[in-house]
Amino acid sequence: MPWLDVPMIRRPMRLRSCYSKLRFHAILISSAQCCSMGNDLIQIANVRPQGGAVLDVLPESAMDFALAPSLAGEGKTFYIETFGCQMNVHDSEKVAGVLMGRGYRPVDCYEDADIVLYNTCSIRERAAQKVFSRLGAFRKAGTAGRKIIGVLGCVAQQEGERFFERAPQVSLVCGSASYPKLPDLLAQIESGRRRVRGLALDTEDCFETEFTRRDNRFRAYLTIIEGCDQRCAFCVVPMTRGPERSRAGAKIVAESRRLAEAGYTEIQILGQIVNAWRDPSPARWSFAELLGRVAEVPGVRRVRFTTSHPRYFTPDIVQAMDSHPALCDQIHLPVQAGSSEVLARMRRGYSREEYLEKIDCIRKARRAISLSTDIIVGFCGESEKDFERTVSLLEEVEYDQVFSFKFSPRPNTSALEFADTVEEEVKGNRLSVLQEAQRRIQLRRNQALVGQKVEVLVEGYQARLRQAVGRTTSNRVLNFPGDPADVGCYRMVTVTSAGPNSLVGERIGDW
Ligand code: SAM
Repeated sequence: MPWLDVPMIRRPMRLRSCYSKLRFHAILISSAQCCSMGNDLIQIANVRPQGGAVLDVLPESAMDFALAPSLAGEGKTFYIETFGCQMNVHDSEKVAGVLMGRGYRPVDCYEDADIVLYNTCSIRERAAQKVFSRLGAFRKAGTAGRKIIGVLGCVAQQEGERFFERAPQVSLVCGSASYPKLPDLLAQIESGRRRVRGLALDTEDCFETEFTRRDNRFRAYLTIIEGCDQRCAFCVVPMTRGPERSRAGAKIVAESRRLAEAGYTEIQILGQIVNAWRDPSPARWSFAELLGRVAEVPGVRRVRFTTSHPRYFTPDIVQAMDSHPALCDQIHLPVQAGSSEVLARMRRGYSREEYLEKIDCIRKARRAISLSTDIIVGFCGESEKDFERTVSLLEEVEYDQVFSFKFSPRPNTSALEFADTVEEEVKGNRLSVLQEAQRRIQLRRNQALVGQKVEVLVEGYQARLRQAVGRTTSNRVLNFPGDPADVGCYRMVTVTSAGPNSLVGERIGDW
């Protein structure tokens, strides 16, 4: 049953006036969440029976919308499945917020949903295919007819109108650049239109939603730049997410404050090329300055940012990390290949040597900074020697984590001008060699941490094993004997053993 804990609310007059409408919305406010309300903020939360609250943070300016939206979704349910990167995950949180603002209720499985949405990824062929296999399964199950099915994100943008022909059961096709129009598109569906599309890439807006339904109670994603102007030869993102649009620095800091007031202690700043962010406001903060300002927000204990591009990675980012302990000991800096010839063909805009200069700058930071990267094996024309250069780069940098992929030719990318010369089998072998080399490096580096004391933000608890699981500032997963009360807390832990992918520890005293 929806409920509103009025006595705990600091601004009862304002809220009393909207009480009935909120209740009508079936949106819930719990006392604990209301306690953390800031002056310019009201939080609306969907409290699940098990107590797993997912918060919506609502700026004052959005209140009018919140109090008078169409209630067309009331009594109806939605389900979103998300594929791909953290930006997609966060986009889905915003889409869920928009739907909840219109009265829809989230459900955990598609069978129970009136609207089923797939937020898709087209970065590699296999990722793009997933949505078609989901839609195929739907058709076979014969359940599609009673539901509204929407496809969002990169595959939606890439396929556009063709989607309706390939999958006639789909009613909504919307790329991420058109998400600001989502409320309108939903209204069209609600009024009975059969096929609705949002495929424009020319929007000036970043996706500023009235509600965001956040899936994690401690870490909040915050997008600061949308789109990408890089045109790397392999990458479909500029075509699917549109041109770069940065959010104003002051708005980003204001949202960070709201998040901290709402109880989030870790902020993960997102952008396809996060460090290409340029303040569009007259303040003209640099990216490093923005990091510092977010890190200084009271209540924010950890700030991460991803993905950085080596081309825009400047020493002032490391200086900001030196000056602000809240900036985590972690940088994700995709290199893609270790051969300068391959990098040039990829149009990455740096050579191996230039990339290593950036790494050198990071290694000179006052504290040890954990490094991770992305690598593509088997890019067009990659010789055995080129590949060896990539493996030698791993040994030289000693990354703490590597995300590695076989090259997958993508539509409308300039790599299509080259022949995809590396055979699938060779790509597969190279991927195995690379992953094995990296496994050894990670094991070595993780084992060097045994005996050290580290701080962990506990994100979960496995009752069967009585284990708490969390992450260190360097983004390593760490398990330790704990209890459910640890979840959401920062605990000091001594590392007792290490594998290639995670650490094990013992909690220190009552920290
Ligand atoms: N914007 C980031 C950058 O340019 O560094 C990368 C974001 S992309 C979502 C994540 C990773 O997918 C890339 O860094 C790259 O390693 C990989 N990737 C992108 N296009 C690919 C393709 N066509 N084939 C294989 N891997 C690809």
